Amino acid sequence: KIIMGIESSCDETGVGLVRLHDDGTVELLADEVASSVELHARYGGVVPEVASRAHLEAMVPTTRRAFASAGLEMSDVDAIAVTAGPGLAGALLVGVSAAKAYAAALDVPLYGVNHLAGHIAVDTLQHGPLPTPCLALLVSGGHTQLLRVEDIAGKITEIGSTVDDAAGEAYDKVARVLDLPYPGGPPIDKAAKEGDPGAIAFPRGMTGPRDPKFDFSFSGLKTAVARWVEGAEARGEEIPVADVAASFQEAVADVLTAKAIRAATESGIGTLVISGGVAANSRLSALAKERCEEAGIELRVPRPRLCTDNGAMIAALGAHVVAAGCAPSPLTISANPALPVSTVCL
Ligand code: ATP
Ligand code: MG
Ligand code: FE
Repeated sequence: KIIMGIESSCDETGVGLVRLHDDGTVELLADEVASSVELHARYGGVVPEVASRAHLEAMVPTTRRAFASAGLEMSDVDAIAVTAGPGLAGALLVGVSAAKAYAAALDVPLYGVNHLAGHIAVDTLQHGPLPTPCLALLVSGGHTQLLRVEDIAGKITEIGSTVDDAAGEAYDKVARVLDLPYPGGPPIDKAAKEGDPGAIAFPRGMTGPRDPKFDFSFSGLKTAVARWVEGAEARGEEIPVADVAASFQEAVADVLTAKAIRAATESGIGTLVISGGVAANSRLSALAKERCEEAGIELRVPRPRLCTDNGAMIAALGAHVVAAGCAPSPLTISANPALPVSTVCL
């Protein structure tokens, strides 16, 4: 079976194609992404109206590219999955409308699915079926959550989440303080490679003895970095960008991995999947690898291209939902900007 996946929750228009084999494995056939990130760069964040318009312009060309690169015709499609939420309302609507139109025109079932579950499901394209249960650390621009995945097609429960900023948001805000471009993850990752992660002792939020064990907080860290930089500037010192980036990145990776491994160990779960845009971070995956080996936990991190938003992740989740025999969504579904991660398919 061929499953088409459409993603438009934020600033990436993604169309992916996968093949669901009879044994339940899912094979990646095409993964085309058009990003409007440059249009938002000068605002330092995604401008919803600009993103919606860009999706509208990119949807059909991106779809054509996906079919061309897979060597498939639209008539080969057996089911269509689309991100129904969470995300920006106007942006989501473009993908949902396109998916409904394609599903009606091709007379194939439509599945409105969860973007966050898609970030986890994408790992199966690279590493095969997920062992169950597994623990997922979802770290993206809008979310930072620890999730227990009982079944990627149906049962996902939240163990902990950020009480303020998402990890990716902290990266983007710290990049701004350091005069690095938006989005901040990649330039901080790069700058940190030349810096000393022990240069500045930035706070590890929510790690006190009375703090919730599996929740996160990154807003204090972001403020600490801003204060440190302001202090150095006030003294007329040159900002050691590489050291600040490395020290900030170390604080983020330290807290994320420590809590994820503690959650896995305490719940007796043997596999940790790290996904979402921030999973593309080199230090996070290196530290996770080190600590998972120590703790005897199997670590799975999709390659960076699959970690950031794309259509293949939605196609992959769609394939798992189809394989599980879930009922298709009615053509009357709408986007849900606040769709909770516990709702995998509408
Ligand atoms: P959500 O999935 O929560 O709706 P989103 O879709 O906008 O949010 P993603 O595309 O999954 O988020 O991730 C984008 C985030 O990932 C940005 O904040 C970006 O800075 C961050 N990011 C990307 N690459 C890296 C990296 N190498 N290191 C750290 N952060 C990174
Ligand atoms: Mg993005
Ligand atoms: Fe995302």
